[in-house]
Amino acid sequence: MKPVFDVPFELIDLQKFDYALEGVSFQQLIRMPNAVYASTSDSAEATAYLAVEDFLHATVKGLWEAFWSQDEPMPFSVACLYKENLKFYQAENAIASGRLGSLCASGVLLKNPRHPHGKWDNLLELALLRPGIQSLVGESEQQPSLHVLGEALFYALRMLISRRLSRQNLPLSSNSAFVLLVDSQYGGVVKVEGDVNKMDFDVNNVYKCAAEWIQRHARIAVSPVDRIWNKLGNANWGDIGALQFAGLPKHSIEDLAADHGCRLQTRRLERQLGDTRVNGSGLFRFQQHGVSPEIVEVQDESVKLESESLKQEVGSVLWLEDSNWERGYHINQIRSNGELPYYIASPVEDPGKSLFLYVGSHPSQLEPAWEDMNLWYLVQRQTKVLTIMKQKGLSGKYLPQLSASGRIIHPGQCRRPSSGGNCDHPWCGTPILVTSPVGETVADMVSEGHFGVDEAIRCCHDCLSALSTASSEGIRHGDIRPENVICVRSGESRPYFVLIGWGHAILEDRDRPAMNLHFSSTYALQEGKLCSASDAESLVYMLYFACGGAFPDLDSVEGELQWRETSWSRRLIQQKLGDVSTVLKAFADYVDSLCGTPYPMDYDIWLRRFKRSIREEDHGKEIDASV
Ligand SMILES: [Zn+2]
Repeated sequence: MKPVFDVPFELIDLQKFDYALEGVSFQQLIRMPNAVYASTSDSAEATAYLAVEDFLHATVKGLWEAFWSQDEPMPFSVACLYKENLKFYQAENAIASGRLGSLCASGVLLKNPRHPHGKWDNLLELALLRPGIQSLVGESEQQPSLHVLGEALFYALRMLISRRLSRQNLPLSSNSAFVLLVDSQYGGVVKVEGDVNKMDFDVNNVYKCAAEWIQRHARIAVSPVDRIWNKLGNANWGDIGALQFAGLPKHSIEDLAADHGCRLQTRRLERQLGDTRVNGSGLFRFQQHGVSPEIVEVQDESVKLESESLKQEVGSVLWLEDSNWERGYHINQIRSNGELPYYIASPVEDPGKSLFLYVGSHPSQLEPAWEDMNLWYLVQRQTKVLTIMKQKGLSGKYLPQLSASGRIIHPGQCRRPSSGGNCDHPWCGTPILVTSPVGETVADMVSEGHFGVDEAIRCCHDCLSALSTASSEGIRHGDIRPENVICVRSGESRPYFVLIGWGHAILEDRDRPAMNLHFSSTYALQEGKLCSASDAESLVYMLYFACGGAFPDLDSVEGELQWRETSWSRRLIQQKLGDVSTVLKAFADYVDSLCGTPYPMDYDIWLRRFKRSIREEDHGKEIDASV
């Protein structure tokens, strides 16, 4: 049986969150007493209250230090709620004065110097400690009983109303409230979202008008109930953690999750597994992995099989729906970007046309793997980036175009709830992205020996033009490598290159580029950020590789940084590119002079120089005027 409510967090987001928290310590000092062995004495109950408070304190402290600031004091406090007057107190004080039985919840509050005890409008999240949350779960569904849910709704609505009536200027996302439901082992999250201004308030019947508001204007999401505390009373930090307050964090979940690769690498070194890192297919396969080659070896076969089920076959037709239309695509060819499959497909109504089609990861895959993160960047994030580029009017011959995006239409009847979400079918809700144009990747051209001098100069010009267009709106690519540049050959016109793979694009300051040992810029490897010349630097490495330049057989960031420093200082990269063309050599010198400085790239000068060079090669033949 399918759950009645939507879930507040998608599994893929929780998975990213979990990766992001690998390096963060949550120190719970007060252990949760074990329900099985503990007596039902007051002291066990008191300890349970204190453990919940300690859990909340350790959570907000860990998250504050990980995402916001190590140095600034944490702006939150934890307090418990007293049933008789619904005011906040310190649990220790309440317990000491014999009021344990009157405690009804524990909350995380924004500190307010004028009200040190805490006020309702400063309440960020509330945890209800109720015995037997897990046993209250109905047999076929993993959701708490209506009684506990009703209590959660009451408190959530009270939080929303208090924020609405507050005279403080609250930096809260004030339309949603989170309530945790916990017992001494299990926990779940209820999220209530809605505009309380829409409540038709009736003083004579407050419960009725509240119930009406919930029915008409609230969105309620309930997570499954999961095990939180083990037998020793230690928390399993992966499963819970729904803090929401405004003020953008300094570090994004993506940044911290991106370090997962480095941590895996460190772990492998610790375990002395270092020798098996480069597999049979050698350097080339190794460098195609965005984050770290180690991930290839540790992947779980069972997970691979699971994602296998979504692979399309040549000759099949895949149907896609958006809110307005349905469209079919014939799968003509299966391609790989080095680690993930994608397709060349034709619209059913226009079989002559070829498009790239990407199939995303299922939103609730049971055992999400690290590969799903890459799939997420390839499909979901890239859809977002291309949509934003479209909205900003960024287009051009050398940029990919969003042709369609939506969700897959699966075989059989779809029984998803009208409120949204997915049905039980394993494909339900899988996102699809369709782009144009199609072409051969530089990686394929190099391995087939199709990448020559003409191609190098054109490729550099066309990619620079794409970068120049995107940077006019402050967007950077962040993942330039041979799999992300394609050569388009269509009919009469001269072949040209298109920069694809925009899933890792930098839209705002906190976005982080992909980490690629061979093609990432020096600044990206050192700082995890891009400077103005970083994309151009990656482009130079890619051309160096495509023109036959060798990369060292290294697998550490330190080694790669050392190689970059030595190669630039001895001008080895310039020399290699100089064998191909003087303008490429000059361009590499220019990029070298700019790297790590705050000065902006002058795209126009270089686009003109490359164009002149292409014109000379063409012996004055007419050349495309678009830049
Ligand atoms: Zn469905």
